[in-house]
Order: sequence, then C-alpha cells, then structure tokens
Amino acid sequence: MNDIQASRPPASTVDLHMHTTCSDGSLTPTKLITAAAQAGLRTIAVTDHDTVDGLREAREAADAHGIQLIPGVELSASWERRTVHIVGLGIDPSAPALEDAIGQMQALRRERALAIAQRLEKVGAGEMQAWTADQLSRGQVTRSHFAQRLVALGLCKDGKQAFKRYLAQGKSAYAPVQWMSMENAIGCLQAAGGVAILAHPLTYPLTRNGRHRLIRAFKAAGGSALEVCSGRATADSVQTCSADALQFGLHASLGSDYHGASQPWIQLGRLQPLPSTQQSVLGLLDRS
Ligand code: MN
Ligand code: MN
Ligand code: MN
Repeated sequence: MNDIQASRPPASTVDLHMHTTCSDGSLTPTKLITAAAQAGLRTIAVTDHDTVDGLREAREAADAHGIQLIPGVELSASWERRTVHIVGLGIDPSAPALEDAIGQMQALRRERALAIAQRLEKVGAGEMQAWTADQLSRGQVTRSHFAQRLVALGLCKDGKQAFKRYLAQGKSAYAPVQWMSMENAIGCLQAAGGVAILAHPLTYPLTRNGRHRLIRAFKAAGGSALEVCSGRATADSVQTCSADALQFGLHASLGSDYHGASQPWIQLGRLQPLPSTQQSVLGLLDRS
C-alpha cells in the first residue's frame, strides 16, 4: 500500500452518494445534512435504497445550511441474474414512472425481509418474524438491519460476519429477489428526468470481461456515468474505473456511499478527487 492509499482520503466539497434512516443509514435526513455541512460539503446527493422518502426533509435541511442538494435514489436492479446498483441523480421524486417502480421495489423488499426472517429462525437465530413485522411497520428493513440485529443479539461479532455467515448471496438466510431489470431501472430514472450512474462498479463479483459486458449493457440502456471515486476507493480502483469510463465514453461520479455508524470506515466527503481525465457527472446536471 503506498502513502496515498494508506492516508485518509482528502476532504471533497462534493459527495453524490449517501444514505439516511429512510433506508439503511444511521442518520436522519436532517442529521445527515448537518453532518455534511460540518464536513465542509457544498454539493451533495441523498441516495437511499429504493426510496425517495427522505428527500423532502433533506431539502429543507439543505436549504437551511445553504448546501446544494441533488435529489437522488439508489435502485437495486437485475442484470444477468446478478444484483447491480444504479444511482439516479437529478430525479423528480414525484414522477409517476419512478413512483410506480419504487412502490414495486418496496413490496419486493417487504417480501424479502419476511423471507429472511423465516430463514434466520430456521437456522436458530431465535424470534425474528415478529421483530421484522414490527420494524416493517416503521420503515425499510434491509439486510443491514438484520446484520445489526444479529450483532445486537450476540450471534455475530460484526456486520461483516453476519453477511458472511447468513445474509450474503448463497448463505443460509439469503432470500433471492428478482429486482426490475437494469434496463427498466435506467428507463425509470430517465423518465423522472434523472441521469443513471453505475454505482461502485468494482464491487460486483465479475471478471474484467464481465464488468465490461455490464458497462456496455449499462451504456446501451442509456446509462450516463460510472461511480469512479467512492469511500472505499483506492488509487488502483480509481485508475481502473477511470480507464473504463474513458473506454466506454461515460461520465464520472464521486460519492462516499456513507451509511453512518454501521460502516464507520466510510466518512462523509472523504473521497479521492476525480482524475483530471474525467468528465464529471455534475456537468450533466446543470440543466435547470
Ligand atoms: Mn446500503
Ligand atoms: Mn450500493
Ligand atoms: Mn449506497
């Protein structure tokens, strides 16, 4: 590891990927915006998983702090039987196509949460279904919520272990889910006036050729940008994603994927800068 990788990433004034308590983040929209202001951020996007519920509150807080808020969402989508994440930026949260898609996603997420609860009970994790139903009455229940529950019950030492033992694809409590296709997800985001970004392109279990096939399909479906810099990025990963963006003629985005306390190694706005070869996705959003 060289010095750049070993040191804390520099503070950016732009961070286009973060989560609130409306999905699996640990801060409410108001607290997230306050933290963003304290971190020196000037332009941010709130991108909860498959929901836009936090955007109204985020907007009020961002206006109060004088921060530019780009309305966003992170959609789960299927591509070749894998799950990929598509971040949409500059969306109109009340666009009918997006509202419909989000309604369907939330139904899928509820079904999946109940299926995971059932499976966890079967493998001896104790009462989970009533807990899940109660949590669902208050909001989203993601795999991260189950991970936190397993840690709180002392069944796993941390969230990583919870995923490795129970929740990751192929493990005992994994419940498969058929998200909408990547093509449909991109179409919904565009119908809502937004641009589509392939989130954290190196996190999918794909070879280089597989990743390039994914990026080609993403671009063909109307995708605009790759997330070149994320909170988990290294100098190497930034270089790899930059090369991909140039090769496929895509813009570049940057976002920490901040979740708060559940992933303390990721901090708001702590990001490698976009390489000077890259065209920022912000250039596509300056349309209003
Ligand atoms: Mn998440
Ligand atoms: Mn993601
Ligand atoms: Mn995310």
